[in-house]
Amino acid sequence: MPELFIVLALALLLVGWQHRHRAKQDRLHQSKLQQNIRDGIAAPPSLHPFINPDLCIGCGSCITACPEQNVLGLVNMKSVLLQPDHCVGHGKCEVACPVGAITLVLGARENGVEVPVTDEFFQTRVPGVYVAGELGGIGLIRNSMRQGMQCIDAIAAKPQKNAARYDVIIVGAGPAGLGATLQAAAKKLRYLTLEQNDIGGTVLKYPRRKVVMTAPLHLPGYGKIHFRDVRKEDLLAEWQKIIQKTGINIQTKTRVEKIERKGNVLEVIAGNHRYTAANVVLALGRRGTPRQLGVPGEELPKVIYQLDDPQEFAGRHCLVVGGGDSALECALMLADAGARVALSYRQGTIARAKPRNRQLFEEAVRQRRIHALMPSVVKAIAPQSVRLEVNGEEKNIPNDDVIVMAGGVMPFEFLKEIGIEMRTLYGEPLPGRKSV
Ligand SMILES: Cc1cc2nc3c(=O)[nH]c(=O)nc-3n(C[C@H](O)[C@H](O)[C@H](O)COP(=O)(O)OP(=O)(O)OC[C@H]3O[C@@H](n4cnc5c(N)ncnc54)[C@H](O)[C@@H]3O)c2cc1C
Ligand code: SF4
Repeated sequence: MPELFIVLALALLLVGWQHRHRAKQDRLHQSKLQQNIRDGIAAPPSLHPFINPDLCIGCGSCITACPEQNVLGLVNMKSVLLQPDHCVGHGKCEVACPVGAITLVLGARENGVEVPVTDEFFQTRVPGVYVAGELGGIGLIRNSMRQGMQCIDAIAAKPQKNAARYDVIIVGAGPAGLGATLQAAAKKLRYLTLEQNDIGGTVLKYPRRKVVMTAPLHLPGYGKIHFRDVRKEDLLAEWQKIIQKTGINIQTKTRVEKIERKGNVLEVIAGNHRYTAANVVLALGRRGTPRQLGVPGEELPKVIYQLDDPQEFAGRHCLVVGGGDSALECALMLADAGARVALSYRQGTIARAKPRNRQLFEEAVRQRRIHALMPSVVKAIAPQSVRLEVNGEEKNIPNDDVIVMAGGVMPFEFLKEIGIEMRTLYGEPLPGRKSV
C-alpha cells in the first residue's frame, strides 16, 4: 500500500511540474510574440506556416520538427508563428502536424507577396523566359536546384533553331542557377550564366558555420550528393568541387540590368554588354540586390554590402552606411568586436528600426562605442578615408572599411519591365503546390 501512495505522489509531482513548465513556456512565448508584433516583424519572403487555431490541438509536434530556432511556439495551448523572420520554409512543421492544422502560405493578409505567373514548366507569360527557385515562391536549396534543372529540361525539349548566340542565359548562381547551369552543360546547350555577386546565392549570406538542412540530390555530370545536415562552409566547398569536376562556367560580378525581346531573340543587358539568347532562366531569388551609394570610390574592394565575420574588423576604422535594422545590428556587432565604428545615415534620427535595436544603438553612441554621423551623406570613398557631408559641412574621416547597409532593390520591378505577369498572394498557398 505505501508503495502505491509513493507512486501516486510521484505521478502527481510530475504532472504538476509539467504543468508549471508548460505555463512558464507559454508566458515566455506570449511575451516574445507581443514583442515581435510591436517590432512589426513581418511574414518571411518565402513559404511559411499558417496555423489554423480551430484545428490545432497544441501537441507541439510542429515545434519539435522545425530545424530552425524559435520559429514556432505554444501560446494558450495553440501553436503560433513566433519569429516569422527566422522561418526559411523547410515545411517540416506541415508534415509533422497530426491533424492537418498547418498550411504553407506566401505573404500575409496585410502584407501581400508577389509571384510571377508561370505554366507547369516554370515558363512565364513572356515566351522563352523561365523562373526557377525562390523567385517563383518555392525556396529551399534542393527544391531550387531541381527547379533550375527542370527549366532546362523544358528548354532542351524545344526545337533549338534560333539566331541567338546562346540557347539559354541563366541569371543568378544560387542553388537554382547552379542546378540550371549543371543541367544546361549536361544537355550540351549553348549557355551563359551571369551572377552579380559570387557563386552560392543566399547560402553565402548565412551566418558562419550554420547547419544547413537539405536532402540528397542527383546532380547532372557529377552524381549524387548525399548531404542532409551540412555546415554552410562545407556545402560551399562541395559546390566548388562540383564546378571544377563538371567544368561549368559561371561569370560572376556581372549584374543583369535589363532583358528585351527582339523578334524571337531575347537580349540580356549587363553593363556595356548585350548577349542574345533563345531562352532566359531567371534564378534571382527573392532577397534583392544591395542598394549602392553611387559615389566615386565605391568600386574599391574595401566597400562591402554584407558582414560575415565582425571579428576580422577588430581595431579597424569602419563606416557603416544606413539607418535600418541591418545597419544598426552591423554597427553594434562591429563595436562589440572592437572595431572603431562610425555610422552615417541621411536622416537626423533613427526611426525605421526595431525599438530594441534603437535602444542598443543609442546606448552605444552614449558610451562612445559608435560615432553617429547624422544627418550625413557619403560623397566619396578613398583608400584610407571617406568624405562626407555632415550637417551641411564637408568632413574627411579616416577609414579602412565601408559597410553599406542601405537596403535592397527587389527584383519585382525588373520582372515587370520584362513584361512578366505577377500575382499577389495574401497568406495563401502557392497555386500548383501540393500540400502534404
Ligand atoms: C538564414 C537562412 C537560412 C536558410 N537555411 C536553409 C536550409 O537550412 N536549408 C535550405 O534548404 N534552405 C535554407 N534557406 C533557404 C535557401 O537559402 C533559399 O531557398 C535558396 O538559396 C534559394 O535559392 P535561389 O537560387 O532561388 O536564390 P538565391 O540563393 O537567393 O540566389 C539568387 C542569386 O541571383 C543573383 N542575382 C539576383 N539578381 C541578379 C541580377 N540582376 N543579375 C545577376 N545575378 C543576380 C543573386 O546575387 C544570387 O546569387 C535559408 C535561407 C536563409 C535566409
Ligand atoms: S503539430 Fe499541429 S496540432 Fe500540434 S501544435 Fe503544431 S499545429 Fe497544433
